[in-house]
Formats: sequence, C-alpha cells, structure tokens
Amino acid sequence: MRAGRCEDELSGAFDGFPVDVRAMAVQMGLTVLEGEWRGLPHAICLYPQPLVILNRRRPEVMRRFDLAHELSHYVLGVEKYHSRAANQWAATLLMPEAVFKLEVIVAGGVNLTVCRVFGVSLAAAKLRFAELTA
Ligand SMILES: [Zn+2]
Repeated sequence: MRAGRCEDELSGAFDGFPVDVRAMAVQMGLTVLEGEWRGLPHAICLYPQPLVILNRRRPEVMRRFDLAHELSHYVLGVEKYHSRAANQWAATLLMPEAVFKLEVIVAGGVNLTVCRVFGVSLAAAKLRFAELTA
C-alpha cells in the first residue's frame, strides 16, 4: 500500500526520533537526578555543578519535555531566559518543524502516533502544531 510504504520510508529517515534528551544532557555535562519530589515538577541548578532535577511522579513524556525545558535554560542562560521561551525551545528540540509537519501529514493529524514518534504528550504536540500553523 502506498501510504504504508511512505510511512516506512519516513520512519526510516527519521530514526533519530524521539530525541534522546537524557543522552543529550549527559553529553552537555549535566547530571540528571530523578526522584519523587513533592510540589517540584522540575528544576535546574548550576552550582557547584550543573544538575537537573526531574520528578518521577510526572509521566515520562512530560519529564522529557521538562528536561528539554531545563536544557534550554542551561544553553541560553537561566536568568535572562523566560520560561515560556524555554518551553518553545524545548518543543523545537523535541519536534523540529519540518519533520513534525511531515509526521502529522503521514499520521493524518495530531494524534497518538505523532506523540509516539516524538515522545511527547498530546497536549505538547497540539500546542506545537498550533504554533506552527498560526
Ligand atoms: Zn523554566
């Protein structure tokens, strides 16, 4: 079937997804600490050494996004960088525009197939799609 073939070719071309955010963080010299913290979704602290704290109480797709969010603070500066911009940066890292748009077309919309490809929540995928089509 043509649609199936197209999908196979696409997933073959983009086997870099979902983006391995944890490996990326480790490569950048960050320590990622995951635990069950009460009332703390995620955080970054730079001293004495860069450390990202993730909350195991949150679903994996959200923790991936949290980590990408904190990575952007690390890359672009914690103080000057607004959290909303950090979320946009995280969405771009996890769902690059061209690949994301292609996958949405292949999947026939923003659905769980798309979420699985990028390892994100449905809410994050819908927000990304809204941003890209606004
Ligand atoms: Zn933030």
